Amino acid sequence: MNISVDTPKLKNPCFPLVFNLVWIMIFLTGFFIESKAQEITPPDSDRRMYDILEEISADRIEKDIRKLANFGTRHTLSDTTSNTRGIGAARRWIKKEFESISKDCNNCLEVKYHRGLVKAGESRRIPEDTWIVNVMAIKKGTQFPNNYVIMSGDIDSRITDPLNAKDDSPGANDNASGMAGVIEAARVLSKYEFSCSILFVGLSGEEQGLYGGKFLAKDAKANGWEILGVLNNDMIGNISGIDGVVDNTSFRVFSEPTPPKPTEQDQIWNRFYGGEVDGPSRQLARYVDKMTSKYTTNLSATMIYRLDRFGRGGHHRPFNDEGFPGVRIMETHENYYRQHEDIRTENGIKYGDVIDGVNFDYAAKLTGVNAICLAGIAWAPKAPELVMIGGAVKPSTRLRWDPVVDSHLLGYKVYWRDTTSPQWQYSKFVGKQTDVTLKNIVIDNYLFGVVSVGTDGNESIVVYPKTLIPRRN
Ligand SMILES: [Zn+2]
Repeated sequence: MNISVDTPKLKNPCFPLVFNLVWIMIFLTGFFIESKAQEITPPDSDRRMYDILEEISADRIEKDIRKLANFGTRHTLSDTTSNTRGIGAARRWIKKEFESISKDCNNCLEVKYHRGLVKAGESRRIPEDTWIVNVMAIKKGTQFPNNYVIMSGDIDSRITDPLNAKDDSPGANDNASGMAGVIEAARVLSKYEFSCSILFVGLSGEEQGLYGGKFLAKDAKANGWEILGVLNNDMIGNISGIDGVVDNTSFRVFSEPTPPKPTEQDQIWNRFYGGEVDGPSRQLARYVDKMTSKYTTNLSATMIYRLDRFGRGGHHRPFNDEGFPGVRIMETHENYYRQHEDIRTENGIKYGDVIDGVNFDYAAKLTGVNAICLAGIAWAPKAPELVMIGGAVKPSTRLRWDPVVDSHLLGYKVYWRDTTSPQWQYSKFVGKQTDVTLKNIVIDNYLFGVVSVGTDGNESIVVYPKTLIPRRN
């Protein structure tokens, strides 16, 4: 009888079905989690970049450019004691401005002067002993404080005679525009935290021989700073060119192809394996171009494949000289009547770098590009190191690198492009693998690079391989 009671229960047709469904669900959940892990891909964009672009204010940039121009002259040899005129007044005002930004973010910036002495006669443009004084504001990185990304502008100005420290030299575009951009980027980015440090700096002595940059780059090297990139802004406000073109939709990024002092090893590598247009400064320029395309509207970066304008210089150069990546960001169409000229009217032409020649909205757009590039680099994980390549006489290209130790790391992405292409064209996210074979991609026909990708989607600057994978591996 007992059996007859139990038997109907066992015969309940629902029981095996429920039992099986549970197992099927457990199996499917496991499969789902497993496949999800393999499918992790980086976020397509970082929403914070749009916020940063929104927060940059053309009105505040205008106010700062006017303030700087109103110091009369900011010539490196000008008065340093007056509080209203000369480079002393200008640098004290910049320092105060950085300090007030810092106050607004709970003292998140380290604000200080950085000085170097140029002895009389060291240069024809420095006839007497002169202190070159830069103003720095450092937002310390939370994870890698010794890794720096730098945005620079210039404090000083000049007119026709490079030694004229007395007459009016408003330097509204050259380079109050770049300086104001640096201050505004500091205002906006000080509200965020970054894993790497960001240095906002006003450099001095640019027009007398790039002195402020030389002193800072040398000290950075001596102190073992890891500089990921220098974005030097020099003239970011003119849209009406000497060539008759009015254009507020493009800007230039100047970058040298390779470091200026190649070793014999570098020369051999460039000749046989490629790399003559793939130095670190060029990769930084490509990064600026990529970020501009990705996040901005009505604006494009024009990469110029040279250190600077023809035969001319800027404050990124001393950093390049010390082996650091650095580029110059500037307007596309310059107006030479408004550069380094005494203020005057001659044959109906107005000369002089006055406030009328500056377009504040355009300066704000270029400041925005700087800000998202600084943020992107400072948020990205550390770049891969010891990137090696191989694959000669084989159907596939292989890349290998050292794993990156960084809590924000999501994985790595391999980039490649045609040998004649200025920008990276193809990419593949490879997760946390550090040894990758690109099937049926023949090494002869492309150039390759690797980046680290963060959990927020931000990427390090591309690292170009400089070593062969040893044969035995
Ligand atoms: Zn200049």
